[in-house]
Parts: sequence; structure tokens; C-alpha cells
Amino acid sequence: MTNAAFRKLPAVSDVLAHPAVAGLLAEGYRQDVMANAVRERIATARAAVARGATPPTAEEVALDVTTQTRRSEAHWPAAVLNATGVILHTNLGRAPLSAESIRAAAAASEGYSTLELDLDDGKRGSRHAAVAGLLRQLTSAQDAIAVNNNAGAVMLGLAAVAAGREVIVSRGEASEIGGGFRIPDVLAQSGARLVEVGTVNKTYAADYERAITEQTAALLVVHRSNFRVVGFTHEPPLADVAGVGAAHSVPVLHDLGSGALLDTAQFGIRHETMPQESLAAGADLVFFSGDKLLGGPQAGLAAGRSDLVAALRGHPLARALRADKLTLAALHQTLLHYVRGEAMQKVPVWRMVSASEGELTERAQALAERIGPAATVAAGASRLGGGSLPSDELPTSLVRIDASGARGPDELARLLRVGSPAVVARIEDDRVLLDPRTVPPERDAELAEAVGRAFSTAEGA
Ligand SMILES: *Cc1c(COP(=O)(O)O)cnc(C)c1O
Repeated sequence: MTNAAFRKLPAVSDVLAHPAVAGLLAEGYRQDVMANAVRERIATARAAVARGATPPTAEEVALDVTTQTRRSEAHWPAAVLNATGVILHTNLGRAPLSAESIRAAAAASEGYSTLELDLDDGKRGSRHAAVAGLLRQLTSAQDAIAVNNNAGAVMLGLAAVAAGREVIVSRGEASEIGGGFRIPDVLAQSGARLVEVGTVNKTYAADYERAITEQTAALLVVHRSNFRVVGFTHEPPLADVAGVGAAHSVPVLHDLGSGALLDTAQFGIRHETMPQESLAAGADLVFFSGDKLLGGPQAGLAAGRSDLVAALRGHPLARALRADKLTLAALHQTLLHYVRGEAMQKVPVWRMVSASEGELTERAQALAERIGPAATVAAGASRLGGGSLPSDELPTSLVRIDASGARGPDELARLLRVGSPAVVARIEDDRVLLDPRTVPPERDAELAEAVGRAFSTAEGA
């Protein structure tokens, strides 16, 4: 790097004067905002020059900034077709919402609403009441509350029930659940002290009992969402832990993670403990996500004993973690699908989970036919995702694409991602795989066309 190279970096004013940027300014784009965008781009270039790169011209910076600006005019996040077969794909936004939930969220955002108003007496109402009512019916809980996400619900629960006191957790469950969510750290943040009992592989109900002191505020049971302990293991049934809690008047908190309101075992996958089962087994408070197997918006639900829920509702953190009206409106409609017994048909996550093998094979065959000779159909597996394991795989039919005519699988997958609509696929054994399970059936034709276009682009390149 030389001073001369740095001096060749374009001046902000020259970039702003370039016809491309000047065009944006003429449209009404703010000069101060565009100047900041240009400065940011030049700062990146300066750092590159320091590493030995050639400085860009004013024209190059102007075209870059213009392209970036045009791109940012599109919707964000951009819609994608999820052909990965991972149903709860965190990077792709987890659960798609039902049409009714989307309409409810749109209606709640369009105008004013009864979010915190009781129309009968004209007085202040509670934003929690409607969702809590449905959750009580669905889980037999005494009361419930919805907050921003499940990590928040667990944090709020621990802070409200156990701050300044001890929480007993099995050593086998003091784990990391996902980026930035480690049980010991969450406990520390909530102000509660972690008391680990048992061993990594074996914990007994008696281990919890021996650790109970005057200082014990709760027993915490955490669902092993993303790992298994196999071999020489023991995990006490929840009812036994609940029995210990009850005998000592210590509340038992259960972080369920996904919290399916329907039985997953009917689809040949592992039975996920349902919130209603956990409460029936004696848990005092259960926590679960709104956007995992519930199939609703991002939210964290806590359901259980009314005095504990009241403590959560009254805690200062509840205000910091509260769910907004769009979320509550969508969640309310999602819960209604369960109340009406229509969740399997209406909630997209359950429609995908329950898609039959016959239907998936038919769709895969039709897709392969549309795509042409590069595509064949093979048996494979879809995944629940959202921190689930290979044991949670659902049998499916995959479209396997030989991408040798499209400059290889990585290039074909890239072209699918940058196409319109964007398609996210899987690569395995040098083949690009499309799983129809996570694609809405009415978009199969579009998916096949997207593959056709990606092939033409690759051939034309
Ligand atoms: C996913 C998960 C969480 C976090 O839930 P979010 O809704 O993503 O905040 C917490 N605990 C368990 C056991 C989970 O599986």
C-alpha cells in the first residue's frame, strides 16, 4: 500500500455527481443519506487498499452504491422457496403462518384495535387475555402469557420465580440450546443461582431432592432439543421430579422447546412432550416456542399455575419482552386452529409434517418430469428442524438433479438461490436435491421453471 493508492480513492462529491447517483437524487433520494452510503463504500475500499487492492474509480463506487440502493428497494426479507425439506428452518424464518394468521396480523396493523381496550366498559383491557384464554383451554393450564420468544419466556420465568435464589438443574441438561442460549448463562442473567445435580449421563429424582435447601426457588427441567445422551443413561420421568417439587413446595419449571400441541408420534417420529402432558405430569410452569411445532409467529409461551404466571406478568422484564400486536393477533388465530380441530389442515407446519408419502412421491415425479432428463426421483428424508435430530426424520421423495450440465451442483444451487423466485436446495452426493414437502404444492410448476431457468443460465454462461 502506498499513499498514492489512498489518494486515488474517489471523493464523495465526485461519486454523488456521477449520473447514476445523480439519477437517484433526482428521484428524491436524500443527498445526506446517499452521501453516507458512498462514505461507507469508500471506507470499505480504503480497507481493501490497505490490504493491497487497487482503489476503485468514482464510477465503480457510484454503480455499486446505485445497485445496492436499488436492491434495498425490494422486500426484505426476500421470499424464498424452501426445497431443503427442513420444515422449521431457522435461517429461512421457521414456521410459515396460516392464511388466517396472516390476515389477523395484517388487520391488527392496518388500523387501531382493541389491543388493550375493553369495548364493553370502555376501560383498559389486557393484551394477554385473549391468547391466555385459548392457551388455558388447550393445555388445561390455570393461566398463560405470551412474550417475544421462548428464550425470553424462560428468562422471564427464572427471573420472576427464582432471582436471588437457587434453581436445581440436571447436569445432563445444563446445555447450549442454540446460538446465544446456554442454560447456565440464562440462569446467571436471570439473577438465579444454578445448582447442578446428577451426572452428565444419569440423574435421578433423588438427586433433585437431596439438593433442595431453604434457598431453592425452583427445579428446572430442560428438553434436550438438539442432542441425545445414549448408552448408560437415566433421566427421571417428569412426574417423579414433579413429585419431589410438590413434596417440598418447590415449583417445577419445564422448558419444552418446541411444544407441539398435536402428537408427533402419529407420523412415525419421536413423541414430543406436549405442554398439556407436561402440566398433567405435575409441572408448575411450561415454556414453549410460538414458531416451532406450534406453527405460529415468533413468540414464547409460558403456561401453568396462575400465581406463577401472575409473577411473570408483573415482573419488569415482562414489559421488555412483551409481544407486539401483530404477533398476538397471528398467535391468536394459530391457537384457534387447534381449538377448532383444524390445525392439521390449516397450520402450514402440520400440513408439511402430515403430507403423505404417496402425495410426495407423485409431486416429486411430476417435478422430475417437468425438469427433464437431469432429474430423477429417489427416497430420502425430510427433517423437522428447529433443533431436532436425525431421529426426527420423515420419509419423503426427493428430486435428484444431476448438475453436470449446469457447471456442477454448487453452481446450480447458487443459480437457484439468486434466481427469481429464490430457491434454497440441498446438495448431497454431488446432486442437487429438492424436497417437495416444504414447498407449497401450488408452487411446484414455479419450482420446476426456476430449475429450468438456472440450467439455461448455466449453459449460456
Ligand atoms: C428452541 C428452544 C429454546 C429457544 O426458543 P426460541 O423461541 O427460539 O427463543 C429454548 N429452549 C429449548 C429447549 C428450545 O428447544
